[in-house]
Parts: sequence; structure tokens; C-alpha cells
Amino acid sequence: MHTHSMNNTLPVDNHSFTVASITLLESNPPNVVSGPLSAVFGSGSGFPELQFLVESVGQQFLGFDLRTTQLFRLGECQSLCVSEGSETVKEKTYSKGITIQFKDEEESSSFHGAFEQWKSKVVIQGSRLPNGTVSSSKSKFDDKIEASSAKMYFHYYGQLLHQQNMMQDYVRTGSYYAAVMENQADFAGRVVVDVGAGSGILSLFAAQAGAKHVYAVEASEMADYAQKLIAGNPSLGQRITVIKGKVEDVELPEKADILISEPMGTLLINERMLESYVIARDRFLVPNGKMFPTVGRIHMAPFSDEYLFIEIANKSLFWQQQNYYGVDLTALHGTAFQGYFSQPVVDAFDPRLLVAPSISHVINFTTVKEEDLYEINIPLKFTASVGTRIHGLACWFDVLFDGSTVQRWLTTAPGAPTTHWYQLRCVLSQPIYVMQGQVITGHLHMIAHSAQSYTINLTLSAKMWGPGAEQGGILQTSSCKFDLKEPYYRISQPQAYPMAQDQQPYQDLKHPSLADFVQQSSNDSDVQIL
Ligand code: SAH
Repeated sequence: MHTHSMNNTLPVDNHSFTVASITLLESNPPNVVSGPLSAVFGSGSGFPELQFLVESVGQQFLGFDLRTTQLFRLGECQSLCVSEGSETVKEKTYSKGITIQFKDEEESSSFHGAFEQWKSKVVIQGSRLPNGTVSSSKSKFDDKIEASSAKMYFHYYGQLLHQQNMMQDYVRTGSYYAAVMENQADFAGRVVVDVGAGSGILSLFAAQAGAKHVYAVEASEMADYAQKLIAGNPSLGQRITVIKGKVEDVELPEKADILISEPMGTLLINERMLESYVIARDRFLVPNGKMFPTVGRIHMAPFSDEYLFIEIANKSLFWQQQNYYGVDLTALHGTAFQGYFSQPVVDAFDPRLLVAPSISHVINFTTVKEEDLYEINIPLKFTASVGTRIHGLACWFDVLFDGSTVQRWLTTAPGAPTTHWYQLRCVLSQPIYVMQGQVITGHLHMIAHSAQSYTINLTLSAKMWGPGAEQGGILQTSSCKFDLKEPYYRISQPQAYPMAQDQQPYQDLKHPSLADFVQQSSNDSDVQIL
């Protein structure tokens, strides 16, 4: 809640409600303001608001930000209106409350109805105000990310155990430390912004490398712990300022010479934090300033893994029971089957499962536009090294710290020391068969969604071999859709592949139930013989 100066004028196009009196609860004793008063809903301040006006003069004296306001019925004609208090860019507002006395029950009811309507507009439309304008007090982040997703996301990072988990990924943290220390010339005497500082560890590294000043920007509650950690390291901490807020929103007193950040999610792009990194670049970095990391690459290669395929397919066998406590579950088998195959698999796999040299897609953080990350379409073309059944596409990423002294890569490749990102595999519900030397084509199409992740469409095709092949143009194509937000973490499983890895171990493997379910789910399969 916040009080406005008396010269705010009333929005004309909104229905107003008559209020007999209101009682300001924050004053002691409570201060009663008698009518005639009117209450109107509007968005003149750039956000949805409930305003109270002195009817005789039509001037506002009290306003509630509807995004943080709740209304309770105390009686037929009396209601309680409380604001949680909020921190907007320009001003701090505090939790306050009033009771409202309506002239009759009818007026009270219609006021409550209007309140609910305005409130639901706020929730459903996010930052879109009813008149179609975009609220100035909502940021670029809020415009594209669902509030519920952001809330869970920052709650997660607000917990020390998750920061510890990342810090204990020594491949990750060690690479950052090495990249900073090997390139002290890029930090010494420079202004640094740590984009999404978390615990503040990278800010402390930058300070160790001699940074003149580090701005550690962190949106979650972790900002308070970062402040503590930094205060606990006073010789470095005196050159670090923690700023709690989103990089999309906060203002900094000076431009940065270099940005440091760890914005990578699974498949590089998960969590959509690269967009925040790019926004931070555009908002805070001097022209031609440095970025650590500088470049990211997504690597992709087809793989063959009969065990994994069977494991996923078997998960839906539960739904093939025709007598589960007397209930036939098979109606949902197809749905369950598709559901399991829509989860990308996260684990560390043996690189010998790859059946073609990998290709890569480069994202240059210093030049990429934020919008370029909304939709990424990667054409695929591989040449099979072996004859095999291809079960899908394996993906991993690396990032480059392009220092003036040393260039260092941090890689999450299979076979390299495992990181907390592991690798990601998109498993097709219908494998495709290839011969050695055969070309596999397709595409990996990734579309960002408002839950801070991506919908992935994968298509792989290969020419048919066997009798029809000579006629040419006959393709076996397999497609699947995945939600990067809902991966299957397979990392508690033993990672042993006991068979000799002679590059062709799996195609003779047969599982008794495999043929059954492939047959039974063929209605749901995306396989087309073109
Ligand atoms: N830099 C730390 C933490 C990396 S995890 C480290 O390397 O250990 C990413 C952090 O960025 C999380 O703490 C998350 O809360 C924060 N973050 C994500 N998006 C952000 C944004 N838009 N603005 C500010 N912080 C953000």
C-alpha cells in the first residue's frame, strides 16, 4: 500500500463504488475517514491498483497495488483490505491494512466481484494490463516468465544446499577459478558484474584476481547469504557489493569491463538464464567488454543404447495390465508410453554409445540477441560409423573463457570428468536402423516456454536399406517431442555397460517384451515411412 499525493487525477473510464467510510488500521488508535468516499480500480500508475478518492473533490488519497493486496469479508457491509507490501523498482511499500464500510450489502458484493475480476486479470495476464499496455513496473523477465515458475526457481536457488551442490562440482568451479586466475589481466583494476551471483563465489574469485569492484547481482534470497559470505572475507569483500534483484531490473552505478556468470543449464539453454546474461551484457557491459564465459556450444550425436530404450519403454508396461484390482488400465498405456518418451534422459553415458561424429551449434554470448534464444533450430546431418539401431540424439555442451592470457574450455562431454550437468539424451520411441556410412538427417528444434525451459522437437531420418533402398527416396523418419523442464534423472543407476564396447554390441539384444509393446503402441508412434 502507498499513499499518493493529492494531485493524482481520477481515471474516468472505471466504475466507482461508494464507500461509507474506511478505517486506517496502521494508526493507533485506528483513524476513521468518513465519506462520502469512492473506490475505483485502475491502472493509471502502470500497475493494477485500487484507489480511494474523496468524492467531493475527486482526488485520490490512498492506493493499493492489487498484485499484493487481499480482500476479506468481515461482515455484510464490512471488509478488510490488506497489502502485503512490496518492493518495486522505484519505491518500497509496506504491509498495511484498512477496513472498508460499504453503504449496503449490494455495493459490498459488487465491489468484491470487481476486486476478484481485477485480481484475476493480474494473475492470468501477468504484466499485461486490461487495457493492453505493458506495465512499466514489470520487467522483461516478468513479461516472459510465469510468476509461479520464477517463484519456484528462485526458491530453489535461495537454498544453500543447491549452491553447495554447484560449488562441489569441482570440474565446474575449478574451471571458473582457473579461468579467472589464469586471466588476472582481464580482472585486475576492472569493474566486474557477477550475473546471478548465488553464493557470491565467482565475485570472490574476481576480487582475488584483483578486480577494482565487483557488483554481485542475485535475485533469490541467496543474496543475503552471499552478503554474509562476503562479509566473512573482508579483504576481498570490501571490493564487492551485493545487489539483490534481477539483472533485468537492478540499476548499477557504473558500467562493467567484464561480466562473469554461470548461466548454463542442462543442454546449455535450460532455465533460460542465458537470456538474462545477454540482457546484463546489454545493460551493464561497456562496448567490447569481456564476458566469462564468452561462447557456448551445444554438441550433438546419434547414439545406440538398447538398455536405455528398453528401460523407458518398460516404464509404461504397468498400464498394460487388464486386471488391476479389477480395472483395465490399457486405455492409458499409449499416453503413459508417450509421456515417458517425452522426458529427456539426464545421466553420464559411455561415449562409445555414440554412433557418429558429433556436430555442434555455437552461441556467441557477446553477440547473440536475446530473442535469438527464444527459438533455436539446428539442422542435423551425421554419417553413421557403424550399422546399428539409433535410439536418439545425445547432447552436451561446453563453454569457452576467452581470456587475454589463456583460453579455457569447460566441457560436459561424455567421457570427460562428470559434472552436475551430466549429459542429455533425447530417446525416440521408434529407433531407426542405419548401415555403416549411411547419412542420418533431421533437426533439433527448441522453443522456449514461459516455465524457464524449452519444448524440444527431434526428428531423425535415414534412408531405408534392404530391398526398397535401390528405388531411392524411401525414408524412415522418427520424431519425438520433449519437455526439457521434465527430465528423467537416471544418475542413481549404475553406469556400467558390461558388454565389450566393440561398437556393435546392442543390435542383437532382444527383450521378450520389446516386440509386444512396440506393436501395441504403434498407434502412438510417430514413425512414418515416406
Ligand atoms: N554464480 C554462482 C551461482 C550460479 S547458479 C556460482 O557460480 O556458484 C545461477 C544463479 O543465478 C542462481 O543463484 C539464480 O538465483 C541466479 N539468477 C538466475 N537468473 C537471475 C536473474 N535474472 N537475475 C539475478 N539472478 C539470477
